[in-house]
Amino acid sequence: MAQEPSTLAVSATATDAPEALLSEAERLVYDGQAMRAIALAERCWALIEFTENLRLQAHCQRLLGLAHERRGAPDDALRAVYRSLALYEKLGDRHGQARTLSLVAVQLAVIGSSAQAFDHLERAVTIAAELRDPDTDFRVWNNLSVIYDRLEDYPKAIAAIHTALDNARLLGNEHMLKHAETALVISRIRQSLHTLEGQDAPENRALLAGILAEARLHCEACRALGFDVMVTTTTQAMGDGFLALGRTDEARAALEDGLSIAVTLGQRGEECDFELKLGMVQCAASEFQRGMVRLRRALAIAEDLGRRDLRVNCHKRLSKALQDQGELAGALAHYQQFHELQVSIMRANASAHVQVMSLKLDIERTRLEAEILRLRATELERDNRNLQNHAQQLSREALEDPLTGLGNRRFFEQQVSALRSGSGATLTLAIGDIDHFKRVNDNFSHAVGDDVLREVGALFRRCFRPQDVVARFGGEEFVVAILGSTPEQAARAAERLRGAIEAHDWPALKPGLAVTISVGLANLGSGEAIDAVLARADAALYVAKRGGRNRVAASPEDPGR
Ligand code: GH3
Ligand code: MG
Ligand code: MG
Repeated sequence: MAQEPSTLAVSATATDAPEALLSEAERLVYDGQAMRAIALAERCWALIEFTENLRLQAHCQRLLGLAHERRGAPDDALRAVYRSLALYEKLGDRHGQARTLSLVAVQLAVIGSSAQAFDHLERAVTIAAELRDPDTDFRVWNNLSVIYDRLEDYPKAIAAIHTALDNARLLGNEHMLKHAETALVISRIRQSLHTLEGQDAPENRALLAGILAEARLHCEACRALGFDVMVTTTTQAMGDGFLALGRTDEARAALEDGLSIAVTLGQRGEECDFELKLGMVQCAASEFQRGMVRLRRALAIAEDLGRRDLRVNCHKRLSKALQDQGELAGALAHYQQFHELQVSIMRANASAHVQVMSLKLDIERTRLEAEILRLRATELERDNRNLQNHAQQLSREALEDPLTGLGNRRFFEQQVSALRSGSGATLTLAIGDIDHFKRVNDNFSHAVGDDVLREVGALFRRCFRPQDVVARFGGEEFVVAILGSTPEQAARAAERLRGAIEAHDWPALKPGLAVTISVGLANLGSGEAIDAVLARADAALYVAKRGGRNRVAASPEDPGR
């Protein structure tokens, strides 16, 4: 049986909310009440089938798969777990994929498709390793051990459980730890039984006896922790072990113990198994009548649960017991039922084989479709990012002068109009124009002219405060909006700039090079438009040029002058 320890707490009453139906179904699955779990899960499915809740759908199908597996219907189980897998693929949920792949693998092992089972498990193990998620790792390795156990490859089953155990330890999860320890002790009993069947040697008997003693301790530990479910599965294997050693009383005690826990917990599938085993033991111990009562009770439970796998076993045992008693007619009737069931199981397995092929194709298609969607989404995202970058670049280019890195005329106008709509702080405009710049180009080259423009730009930036707006207006013309200063302070700042440009180490750039600038100033009058101030500053610049250049001139029309 696939190992999927429930992480959900035992839920109270099932309401009609899909989530509540599912958690109740989950509880029933782990209690072995497959048919009831299926009824609830199907009710849940009817509610969510046409919704967008893929996650809940995937969970629901996975549970249906587990439940069908527990009722012994691998074909239905496979259909459900494959559907679940497809949904997890669609969701791109790697955790869900890994867990469900390992469940699919278990179903495939059940119908005898070992190669396919390992194929799926390999994918599950790979994904789990990529995820570095001990919880998923735990489940995958647990299921791997189930498959090896089924194939009677006990050394590999045991190795897989050890990996699961490591993960349980990593998680510090006591429940998972005991769950894996239970699987371990059971696999060791089975391995030991297998060895004993091969060779009935004293050392093999001693080995089994030792493991059974450990199993007893393990049961006590589980009981102390309240993990009674694990006691029932362990006592089943212990019953087989003691019987093989001929220690019938201990076998009966272990089985009776397990039975009473199964009854208390309402684990009806386990109850059926225990009744069956105890019935066989009693029939063999010449307690035929009481043994038959148990075997018939086991059959009734199996029929009630709708479990084909248990029913086939019950009919087989009943037939054998009756035959041993010489009740041949009864034996034959059960044998016929046994035979019919076995044929139907084989048919179901065969149809599951065929299904697997088409299901595999379906799932591959879903996976590709999901992959294409994901690729498209990343492509769109990248295009979007490129567009954004491009837009940012464009808006930067629209406001920046590429040569000097200063703002351009548009930037200047934006900034100044934003300032103007603010408080009535004072504003002085200074327009600077390099003197005889054409000569710089002519005498030294256009490239040197560009260098001069860059350095003049840097000097402008350095001579004013960060809050002053500096821009290159075009050509060899620069402009500054000096904010919150008196006309005198602004004039001093402009004079400082003029001096700094004159004093700059131009010969370092080119021997013989000298650069000066003329500046025109105008103060903003109340209610005056920016264009008007600019025109006055320009007029002042013209005055400076006419006055011999390399000087600062203020607009004669400044208000208050
Ligand atoms: P003035 O003292 O009267 O201002 O004389 P000027 O030579 O500076 O005046 P004019 O406006 O006649 O010349 C400006 C020159 O600036 C003309 C143009 O070739 C040059 N110029 C404009 N933009 C650039 C540029 O980006 N790089 C370079 N190297 N030169 C430029
Ligand atoms: Mg000019
Ligand atoms: Mg000039």
